[in-house]
Amino acid sequence: MRLSRYFLPVLKENPAEAQIVSHRLMLRAGMIKQQAAGIYSWLPMGFKVLKRLEQIVHEEQVRAGHIPLLMPTLQPADLWRESGRYDDYGQEMLRIKDRHDRDMLYGPTNEEMITDIFRSHVNSYKDLPLTLYHIQWKFRDEVRPRFGVMRGREFLMKDGYNFDLTREDALHAYNRHMVSYLRTYERMGLTAIPMRAASGPIGGDNTHEFLVLADTGESEVFYDARVPALKLGDRAVDYDNREEVAGICEEFTTLYARTDETHDEAVYAEVPEEHRKVGRGIEVGQIFYFGTKYSESMGATVVTPDGSRVPVEMGSHGIGVSRLLGALIEANHDDKGIIWPEGVTPFHCGIVNLKQGDTGTDAACEGLYKALRDLGLDPLYDDRDERAGAKFATMDLIGLPWRITVGPRGLANGVVELTSRRSGESEEMSAAAAVARIAQIYDGV
Ligand code: ATP
Ligand code: MG
Repeated sequence: MRLSRYFLPVLKENPAEAQIVSHRLMLRAGMIKQQAAGIYSWLPMGFKVLKRLEQIVHEEQVRAGHIPLLMPTLQPADLWRESGRYDDYGQEMLRIKDRHDRDMLYGPTNEEMITDIFRSHVNSYKDLPLTLYHIQWKFRDEVRPRFGVMRGREFLMKDGYNFDLTREDALHAYNRHMVSYLRTYERMGLTAIPMRAASGPIGGDNTHEFLVLADTGESEVFYDARVPALKLGDRAVDYDNREEVAGICEEFTTLYARTDETHDEAVYAEVPEEHRKVGRGIEVGQIFYFGTKYSESMGATVVTPDGSRVPVEMGSHGIGVSRLLGALIEANHDDKGIIWPEGVTPFHCGIVNLKQGDTGTDAACEGLYKALRDLGLDPLYDDRDERAGAKFATMDLIGLPWRITVGPRGLANGVVELTSRRSGESEEMSAAAAVARIAQIYDGV
């Protein structure tokens, strides 16, 4: 993309309404625009990162054997009357009437609807196990929408639902979700710690939240300092292998890690003192096992091998896709702007032309731009007629991990400059070597 033709409405001033750094930087980098409290338009660069995150979530869900579908944002109230949650959910639910005076709602989550789909089409244990998920906009009329996309009213969530014959099968689904979530966050360059949590309006007794450590997080967290260092890395996981999947979950949940809701001073006191940590965290996901809570009230049953009929075992699992953008920026920024991890960056690298209009420099930039694109990479070429300082400031603000700087002086020596946004270190090399380096960095990302 050529910056002169892109739509990147960066702000020079710090927006007064933003209280935390991720909100401020998303506004300044022209990623979002607020349309009403907690409701945002996603401007091109914000949209690009959002799509990137969505893609990673899809890939990891499909890898775990889960099946994508798409349910609507609007739901009939009658489904929620069946589960009893129409009255229970309270003011967070946006209730709407259609022209025929029928009660509708903008879905805050989809347990009822997925259970309805299931009971309409699945009848036998032979069709199990089954895990269906979608990535769809949700609406929760939060009392205090704030921090930009972190606590919006309209937000994008991946929500998945497993259907199993037995409790053991459902617990395997729970574990599979835990591992696939760990992999998802790691691919995004985030450390998200599974913490034992409280279940809230979803119900059920087995639940973990995934928290990204950040000073601006809304939850207080208590954990063993050795937990954030745990990594899945690139080990291959066989998601059908129960022992293997359960083993990984154990590895990640044995040490102490709890939110304030489940924190237990007595158990925490057993953690060696030098490892005890108190901090704050951003909830970026949650998984639940709730058994037959919805299937019983809504009549979602299956025939068992011995011919009897039982309510299906279920769980639900959510990732806050739009909130993740905020969490990513909270975890990756400096005083100049965002620093995207390679796995989620909106463009692979920036090209800064120090002397726009100079024939040789323009030609070198065009050559780089073409060479990168020919390799399937997605560079952002700052071809505006602007001072070098302004171009650097924009690149630093929007946070592309790599920048190639091209100017007449370097070109006279046959070199361009490759700079890492994270370390700030620069290296001179030929244009061809810079292209090869960028290609190598993104190989397999
Ligand atoms: P919270 O405790 O932050 O209100 P929740 O526990 O009610 O969230 P879940 O029902 O667990 O939310 O939803 C799954 C995920 O959706 C959460 O882990 C979070 O990442 C995201 N999410 C929930 N509410 C919001 C919101 N208002 N804005 C953005 N993301 C949200
Ligand atoms: Mg939650």
